[in-house]
Amino acid sequence: MSPTVGSSDRPLRVAVVGSGPAAFFVVEHLLAHTELELSVDILERLPTPFGLVRFGVAPDHQKIKSVTRAFEKVAARPNVRFFGNVDVGRDVMLDDLRAHYDQICFATGAQTDRRLGIPGEDLARSHPATEFVAWYNGHPDFRDLTFDLSVERVAIVGVGNVAVDVARILCRTPEELARTDIADYALEALRESRVREVYMLGRRGPAQAAFTNPEVRELGEMPGADVTVPVDEAALDPLSLEMVEREKDRGTLKKIEILEEFAQRERTDKPRLLTLRFLVSPVEILDDGAGGVGGLKLVRNALRRDGDRLRPVATEEVETLPVQMVFRSVGYHGVPIADLPFHEKRGVVPNLAGRVEGNDGAPVPGIYVAGWIKRGPTGVIGTNKSDAGETVESMLADVAAGVVNRPPHPESEAAAVLISTQCPRRVSYEDWTRLDELEVGRGKAAGRPRVKFTSVEEMLEALDR
Ligand code: NAP
Repeated sequence: MSPTVGSSDRPLRVAVVGSGPAAFFVVEHLLAHTELELSVDILERLPTPFGLVRFGVAPDHQKIKSVTRAFEKVAARPNVRFFGNVDVGRDVMLDDLRAHYDQICFATGAQTDRRLGIPGEDLARSHPATEFVAWYNGHPDFRDLTFDLSVERVAIVGVGNVAVDVARILCRTPEELARTDIADYALEALRESRVREVYMLGRRGPAQAAFTNPEVRELGEMPGADVTVPVDEAALDPLSLEMVEREKDRGTLKKIEILEEFAQRERTDKPRLLTLRFLVSPVEILDDGAGGVGGLKLVRNALRRDGDRLRPVATEEVETLPVQMVFRSVGYHGVPIADLPFHEKRGVVPNLAGRVEGNDGAPVPGIYVAGWIKRGPTGVIGTNKSDAGETVESMLADVAAGVVNRPPHPESEAAAVLISTQCPRRVSYEDWTRLDELEVGRGKAAGRPRVKFTSVEEMLEALDR
């Protein structure tokens, strides 16, 4: 009889694809089950771990990044290995993983953006906010993009926390940015920025704004920019008022109060102005005659009840916002994973509590998802902890029920040989620790948390030295 999977004779072998918060929380939950013998391999496309903590969290929010300390502890466990610079779907295929692991959990996030679907979206200086974020955070895939910051007026479509991050980065002074780990090239470009007016555009009202209170409050505390809201747009429409009075949600009441206070502020001599607008939707990005953004046509919205939600409905009232650049910040979107089913509209892998559902609706044995590719691009970093917990519960229930993938080569050495053969330039966790030390060292002289390596070649060269 073959030994039980999860016993010391036959440890459970798990591959986690991706190394962002969702991936590390999955590993952390697995390790908490000390009754199981297991070993986990984390496979990451880039040489650096931590996904959106490194490439999504804003550089002026260093405190949020300290979550990596918990992840470092996870990575240091003897039964956890990190294989960086390994692209699952290109270097290593799902069938390769099936040959070596009992369970494979994809935590690949949501790597692209949602589109607005309006004319002019592809003009020069119309960008997805997600690309700007990846650029200023030094993501190797986005480092070569250019953003023309010689313009004076910029609109950001959407009022979620990503829109807030983009607005803040555009409004920060060079001195503030120089204390962060923003990519060097972005620091230089933003130092020369001529942007003076930034607009954030919400299609619904203040009560429905997706940003969270600490994030919006911070917009009112910037040394280099005033913040304002048109008084009539800070005021609630009758339906929102009724809803807010009925629900009495403290967070929403606070949010409204913050925005009303912004609406009362006077303009000071700060060089930049950030304006939060509500109940407006972009209907067309206008051409400046040379193929670039020359304005943004907006329609005023009214809110209508739609079940328990309030939905924006266009009125006849239109205006043109005189902006020369547009960031579309209306959400991230997942990309398909080779050989797995995919829900195009939602941008997720269909699943039931983390168990991937095949095209016939039945769970695919041994294959799981966690994080944004599982539930869509919502929630803060901590949200991924409970989300990962749910996936791990499913994984362990399946181990107990004997529903695992049953690989022909479960030995951990066999997986290491496969990966090293197919990715000779794989990066270990020890390698990453060296890169980390080098980055921190480069930052020290300039009083910065770190100066990031932003290209894979640069990282591999540094490791070769
Ligand atoms: P989000 O929170 O879902 O916000 C998307 C925004 O886009 C909403 O205001 C939404 O309005 C708007 N929108 C969607 N479609 C639109 C359209 N066609 N026209 C105009 N507006 C449209 O997404 P996100 O800002 O990308 O953030 C993703 C997740 O990461 C969120 O959970 C966020 O809280 C989190 N995050 C957190 C932090 C932080 O904690 N500091 C920082 C960054 C991101 P409706 O509400 O009307 O749909």
